[in-house]
Amino acid sequence: MPTYTGSCHCGAVTFEVSGDIEQLTTCNCSLCRKKNAQMARVHKDAFKMTADWDTVSLYQWNLKIAKHYFCKTCGIYTFHQKRSEPDYFGVNAQCLDGFDPASVPTIPANGAAMSVAD
Ligand SMILES: [Zn+2]
Repeated sequence: MPTYTGSCHCGAVTFEVSGDIEQLTTCNCSLCRKKNAQMARVHKDAFKMTADWDTVSLYQWNLKIAKHYFCKTCGIYTFHQKRSEPDYFGVNAQCLDGFDPASVPTIPANGAAMSVAD
């Protein structure tokens, strides 16, 4: 089973993802459109933060269920805890070392169709 290390641009945020990554998703919600990230779906047990959690900032919006993390220093989106499946993280595939995002299919997710708070 492969283990991928990942990091933000400046290197303050580091993490590990274990297991095969068979597909990625993009999302058309108002936040993901602006991040423009390809995301790997990773179970929380296969995700390990290897830096201090103090290196990331948390952004929440709308229903404030999903937890969107980004590096406090360089601003790169690294991963988020999913709203639809809280046991899973979405991980920025472009942050993973030795993983080619073009090597697996990328599926568009229709996050824009999820409910939005009034
Ligand atoms: Zn950084």
